[in-house]
Amino acid sequence: MPTILLVEDELTLAETLRYNLEREGYIVLLATDGVQGLELARREAPDLIVLDIMLPRLDGLSVCRILRQEHDMPVIMLTARQDEVDRIAGLELGADDYISKPFSLGEFLARVRAIMRRSERQPRLAAREVLEASRLKIDTSRRRAWCEGEELNLSQKEFDLITCLVRNRGIALSRDLLLERVWGLDFIGDSRTVDVHIRWLREKIEPDSSRPRYIQTVRGIGYRFEAPGEDS
Ligand code: CA
Repeated sequence: MPTILLVEDELTLAETLRYNLEREGYIVLLATDGVQGLELARREAPDLIVLDIMLPRLDGLSVCRILRQEHDMPVIMLTARQDEVDRIAGLELGADDYISKPFSLGEFLARVRAIMRRSERQPRLAAREVLEASRLKIDTSRRRAWCEGEELNLSQKEFDLITCLVRNRGIALSRDLLLERVWGLDFIGDSRTVDVHIRWLREKIEPDSSRPRYIQTVRGIGYRFEAPGEDS
């Protein structure tokens, strides 16, 4: 049975959500602060995390950021703040969806079902993950990638970069986020590094690298992978 981890410090809301999710047949784990949420996520590897942003001890955006470096489980963020910045931050950190409080129970359950269906369709297995997007196929466990069936000769960083972009397809990723994900927090350099690797990647996967269709530039932000013909 699918397990959902709910990280929410407002107990009335948490209990209401838990009751209704259990009625839908999910097993629900509840954490009431960010540290406990992170611990439960690591230990129980739930199928979905519903994560509030304003949390005691460790906020939801930090929990999401840490988890994303370790796991690929879907995350829905909840927030009371009607702040577009939060929304963008949450999605950049890899959240799959975002719901502003107050929300209706019906809307919440519909979003949960949608995410669960999506993750069933694209199983996120750490052991053997094959990502497919349009003309690209990436086998993350074997670290091999193909474009139109032809194996690509990618450097380690190019491989990590395209994997990160494809995993978050449709989402604009900032240069800083890409630097952090691919090069690590202790990397000394600047976002030009990202641009240079993007250029090399485009030369390898775009039919016309001067007019990229797959790795798109998001002005003032960074890059976004688009797979034409896919609805995700
Ligand atoms: Ca809260």
